[in-house]
Amino acid sequence: MHEMSIAMNIVDIAVQTAKANKAKKINSISVEIGALSGVVPEALEFCFEAATQNTMAQGSQLEIIFLKAEAHCQKCGTKFETDQFLNICPSCGEQVFASGGRKLQVKAINVD
Ligand SMILES: [Zn+2]
Repeated sequence: MHEMSIAMNIVDIAVQTAKANKAKKINSISVEIGALSGVVPEALEFCFEAATQNTMAQGSQLEIIFLKAEAHCQKCGTKFETDQFLNICPSCGEQVFASGGRKLQVKAINVD
């Protein structure tokens, strides 16, 4: 389960940012997760709680912003959003691979 290392990484970034801003406490952390990043939001939330123990982020909220991937059909030009890598074009039935959607980054943190 790689969500634990991701959660620790997120907490790390948030704590460093909070310290750089002389904050005392982290209230919430927003992360963007691409649909194709392979991260299971529920698992990440679970690991996040453990990762925040004994850090400035303890008790903080994890806000997950789930980003859809985009697929662009080469045959007919249709663009659509998806959360799967391999897709069937809704217009012509061609196989379409999604692009993007692998992002995983800390978008914002809220501190006191
Ligand atoms: Zn198509």
